[in-house]
Amino acid sequence: MVIERNTSQVKKIIAKAKNKKLLVGFVPTMGALHPGHLSLVKEAKKKCGFVVVSIFVNPIQFGPKEDFSSYPRDFRNDEKLLRSEGVDLIFYPDCRNMYKEGFSTFVEEKRLSRFLCGQARPGHFKGVCTVLVKLFNIVSPDIAYLGSKDYQQAQIVKKMAADLDFSLKIKVLPIVREKNGLAMSSRNAYLSREEKDQAGCLYRALITAKKLVAAGETMSPKIITAIRRIILSEKHIRVDYIRIVDATTLENKSRVKGKVLVALAVYISGVRLIDNIVLNGKKVNAGKVHSRLSRQKGRK
Ligand code: AMP
Repeated sequence: MVIERNTSQVKKIIAKAKNKKLLVGFVPTMGALHPGHLSLVKEAKKKCGFVVVSIFVNPIQFGPKEDFSSYPRDFRNDEKLLRSEGVDLIFYPDCRNMYKEGFSTFVEEKRLSRFLCGQARPGHFKGVCTVLVKLFNIVSPDIAYLGSKDYQQAQIVKKMAADLDFSLKIKVLPIVREKNGLAMSSRNAYLSREEKDQAGCLYRALITAKKLVAAGETMSPKIITAIRRIILSEKHIRVDYIRIVDATTLENKSRVKGKVLVALAVYISGVRLIDNIVLNGKKVNAGKVHSRLSRQKGRK
């Protein structure tokens, strides 16, 4: 496994792999790796002959009051984990090289970024898109692997890649969870044992939403109220948002119909956690509704 900080060297190493006709798989991360990240690496290893993982805590996706400086960093452990997964190359760029003096070009997706975390974290997705465009240009992967833990991010990156004609595939993989359902995240390192236990309520709340929908509930406000009640039954949790949105457009849905995303963000003792679940509400058959309405009219 090669560890490389230099952008031109990375390009050369990848050009060699491509000359050998190897498929290049890429997993962009901010490090402090956990089994969620490794699930992406394992999938990349299955499909690609050359696997690149980047580790870069990207300053421009953090707001001024956010946790850039305290974000967990543990390169030695990351290196060990990636070596045992058989990764070919770790790209570990230096911040001053990624954003050289006078850097002034940014990439912004303007539709899907308006919602959910985009509202709560202004400029966040602009930072994410900008760094990913740079990383995609440097690594030129055939396939990039992202996690649906960051569902909105994955949708935005797909949209950006399509809008800007990137010729790469984007694979989005399921959320890896702790035993109590808590979605794995580097930020969980900030939580105490007790707080991690409390945070299990997020998944319980999402599963309750799933059960309500399976039982025929379609009214989003009712489902959101049930979720909120479960979450607020735990101490020290503040809700940022709980939304039910169209799984593709991310626009609010007042009724659960077709494929929807139930997404939430909370603060537990000041630590921001996100989670989500995709649900398939029954499609309301317009024909059936029409005939039922006609029958009702006929009876009057
Ligand atoms: P991060 O290091 O937090 O920027 O995450 C890097 C990639 O790993 C992103 O595509 C995340 O969505 C993905 N990821 C993070 N946590 C998980 C998880 N629990 N399950 C699956 N993928 C994850």
